[in-house]
Amino acid sequence: MNRLSYLKDVTTLALDEQKCIGCGMCLEVCPHAVFGMQERRAQIIDRDACMECGACRRNCPAEAVTVQAGVGCAAAIINVILGRTDQPCCGGDTGCGSGKTCC
Ligand code: SF4
Ligand code: SF4
Repeated sequence: MNRLSYLKDVTTLALDEQKCIGCGMCLEVCPHAVFGMQERRAQIIDRDACMECGACRRNCPAEAVTVQAGVGCAAAIINVILGRTDQPCCGGDTGCGSGKTCC
């Protein structure tokens, strides 16, 4: 079966490999396995699979990842998986402004 991917070359995802400290958090939180690790640095291995949920950016301790988040529900699911039920459902930057702890 083919992997799900979105429109080619449209995601706003970017990674500054020089800032990466190799913690692996982006690999852990990304629901679409966009990242891989090579020589203790994250790499984007499947860019077109990114759905711009923003979880990698929010969880990167080195601010090495940037992305314009656009899908708050995905972020909410990840927050719940990580036990972060005290956070707004979408992390506050995806536009719904509900202020709920979970959708
Ligand atoms: S924005 Fe979401 S889907 Fe895209 S790379 Fe980051 S965690 Fe993965
Ligand atoms: S979360 Fe940030 S610092 Fe950690 S591996 Fe990913 S890009 Fe590197």
